[in-house]
Amino acid sequence: MPWCDVVRGSLRDSYERYKHLLHGGSIDVDLAEKIENVEKNIINNIKNIIDLDKDLEEIIRELTENGVLDELIRDVGREFKVNVKDARKAVNTFLNGNLQDEQARIAFIVIQAVARLKAMHSEQKGLSEKARITPYCPVCGAESGTMVRYKGAFYMVCPFCGFMWRVSDTFTCPYCGNTDKLRLGVMTGKRSKRLGIAWCQECGRTWRVILDERVVLSVPRLLLPVIAHGAEIYREALSSVMDDESSGGE
Ligand SMILES: [Zn+2]
Ligand SMILES: [Zn+2]
Repeated sequence: MPWCDVVRGSLRDSYERYKHLLHGGSIDVDLAEKIENVEKNIINNIKNIIDLDKDLEEIIRELTENGVLDELIRDVGREFKVNVKDARKAVNTFLNGNLQDEQARIAFIVIQAVARLKAMHSEQKGLSEKARITPYCPVCGAESGTMVRYKGAFYMVCPFCGFMWRVSDTFTCPYCGNTDKLRLGVMTGKRSKRLGIAWCQECGRTWRVILDERVVLSVPRLLLPVIAHGAEIYREALSSVMDDESSGGE
């Protein structure tokens, strides 16, 4: 059984359990749970009518051409009391990154459900284990700023489709591949080492890391980037370290 199939807690239970790691940040759990249920329904409705071996772009194109995507968007719009007049336009507005638009947010939910189904299929085929040094999701193309430690290796987690891909067995910068321990590090709390902000002096990028495997195993996948966001409280300490190092002279 691939590890991605390990049963994880419900969204609400997981959130209650780990919300202290958010250090005051919060999410609307009722809304998140409603979206989760809607997406699960979509996944169940379409999983037998699409060829999951095709890439995501092709799947979306086919669902657009046969009218299924439009129908799903209008159905979800009704669930959230949003009258979607033009489903194609809603999709394009979402693809252009405008989530202020309520119709685009409906398109987001439908496309996220399709992407999650494709991500699950890719994980079942073992594609998470193929090492890739990149912050861009191999399934949907979204950029991830969240790394997790799992079984001693380091994986990135996609904030959109939930796909996880192995970066390396050793701590490695996902942006440039740097593994030099002197030019790479993680800033954590003095007492809690569960979350941290990682930095790379080779390329200057930073990203968030969940170092506690129990968190990785016990919460719904899309909650991981939310929890990792709690590491932001270490950013100030990180910038003072980086300032010290850059003023130290090389
Ligand atoms: Zn993705
Ligand atoms: Zn780097």
